[in-house]
Amino acid sequence: MRLSQMLFVTLRDDPADAEIPSHKLLLRAGYIRRIGSGIYAYLPLMWRVLQKVSQIVREEMNATGAQECLLPQLQPADLWRESGRWDTYTKAEGIMFALIDRREQELALGPTHEEVITIIARDLIRSYRQLPLHLYQIQTKFRDEIRPRFGLMRGREFIMKDGYSFHADEESLKKTYQDMYQAYSKMLQRCGLAFRAVEADSGAIGGSGSIEFMVLAEAGEDEVLYTEDGQYAANVEKAVSLPADAEPSSFTIYEKRETPETETIEKLCDFLKCSPTQVVKNVLYQAVYDNGMTVLVLVSIRGDREVNEVKLQNELTKLACQFGAKTLLKLAVPDADAQKKWAAKSLPLGYIAPDIADDYIMKEKSVHPKFLRLVDKTAVDLKNFVTGANEPGYHVVGANWGQQFKLPDLVVDIRKARPGDRAMHNPEQTLKSARGIEVGHIFQLGTKYSQAMGATYTNEQGEEKPLVMGCYGVGVSRLAQAAVEQSYDQDGIIWPVAIAPYHAIVTIPNINDAQQVEIAEKLYTELNQAGIETLLDDRNERAGVKFKDADLIGIPYRIVTGRAIANGKVEVFERQSRNSQEIPIAEVVSTLKGWISQATGNGK
Ligand code: ATP
Ligand code: MG
Repeated sequence: MRLSQMLFVTLRDDPADAEIPSHKLLLRAGYIRRIGSGIYAYLPLMWRVLQKVSQIVREEMNATGAQECLLPQLQPADLWRESGRWDTYTKAEGIMFALIDRREQELALGPTHEEVITIIARDLIRSYRQLPLHLYQIQTKFRDEIRPRFGLMRGREFIMKDGYSFHADEESLKKTYQDMYQAYSKMLQRCGLAFRAVEADSGAIGGSGSIEFMVLAEAGEDEVLYTEDGQYAANVEKAVSLPADAEPSSFTIYEKRETPETETIEKLCDFLKCSPTQVVKNVLYQAVYDNGMTVLVLVSIRGDREVNEVKLQNELTKLACQFGAKTLLKLAVPDADAQKKWAAKSLPLGYIAPDIADDYIMKEKSVHPKFLRLVDKTAVDLKNFVTGANEPGYHVVGANWGQQFKLPDLVVDIRKARPGDRAMHNPEQTLKSARGIEVGHIFQLGTKYSQAMGATYTNEQGEEKPLVMGCYGVGVSRLAQAAVEQSYDQDGIIWPVAIAPYHAIVTIPNINDAQQVEIAEKLYTELNQAGIETLLDDRNERAGVKFKDADLIGIPYRIVTGRAIANGKVEVFERQSRNSQEIPIAEVVSTLKGWISQATGNGK
């Protein structure tokens, strides 16, 4: 492609609305254009990158025996009602774009495709002989994200590879899951990314597990906790650890103390001169279930620890049927406004004890009349602890479970692990923290969708069984931007060779020099003929402008038909190392072929 004929517009300055380097660079270098909030046009250079990423993904998927298909983006609401996710996706999370057609039928733009694929499996899979089966697609997804940002990282329209596998049993699912782990690792290696596979939260779906693939970068929205021995890595949402030991309490006698203005743990510990590990902190949450029921949740946890709200959500979802509901819609710390809706009298916030009376809750049909009391494991073994006295300005000290307070029946792990905690597998290892960009997620779904939607098969014994499912996603457009986030310098993007829009750019320093032009044209033709995707910068611009642009758009190799042509050579510049060397014109094609094949793992 000739730059003189391309839509090639680069910006000198950073665009005002871009926060992270990769977003700025993709805008400046003319890869993407913002059309609306979380909506981007992929311009020709970007589209080439996306096709390269897609092709790598496709090859690795095909190598596992998965088959590509294309599912509809317009999805009838009925499918989502069958799986029980219509309300969650349109109301609770509100992430799904829903619409009504001219026949007054409700539809949605697909944020994901479990429902569609499960219907297909229900209709077409009859027998164990058809299993296992794995279908995938590479396609645009729509999600009404609360905070679309960082360009392609969190768009409202983005490209995803999503695959769904069907199995007769868990064992077969585990095998495909393992294959996907390998396939994903290979994809990311081939794309030239530094990444970490981490244990991830599987949400309320349960299943036997899920793994996220994180591209390591400071701008990542996710926090990963890991140990240096390489034995443990998990998303902070999922991570477990051994907390520091509690300090023994010096309050041997139970008594109520006046503790003015100590509504935070820090102020309280300052005032009482005690360690937060001697305090039982009681945190109030408000859960709303899908049947409209509000449940007030009181979590007792050791004073030095925080509640992991993802873990808490999972626990509360498991309890949904206790409240006559199917699923949890919302979890929040109630503010003053929220309290007006259910509090019968003003709560002693900051001074709540584990036994706060249920009569603080208004008698109201849609509000559960009792607090749901949960205790985190960290608080269970505390002796002679400090906690609230259910009265503003007062705490109790020297308290014990089974004496002044009844230990809640529900003992759970809802503690947030944090850097510095000891690791479970080896207490000598401490957890370290890193930031990551989630580019892939593999998931053992089990029978959640097949059961809800009646997708069954007949096993060897002639019995009808629900299909066992897995699902596997890669954020293709997010991955492409993550590659930039991991690889750039002050001059611009440095694409990994395997996903660069072009391998090489031939730059003519002076287009009025006939010899420069002639050699450049010849090389341009030969390189392209040899399968080396090459641009020709034949614009009537100063050499300096051309070099700057080539650096900015991040093409791996730049060939300059400058002064060296007098000696039958051209200058070849490598974007990543910034090394430059003169190479005989006749050797350019073979040299570049060698470099590219080496950089992309021998052209795999
Ligand atoms: P996140 O926690 O980042 O919102 P998710 O858990 O909702 O991601 P999945 O539903 O597992 O994501 O989707 C599979 C992949 O699609 C993710 O791993 C991610 O790479 C990508 N992805 C998800 N949401 C977006 C988005 N809004 N924009 C771009 N890519 C996305
Ligand atoms: Mg999401």
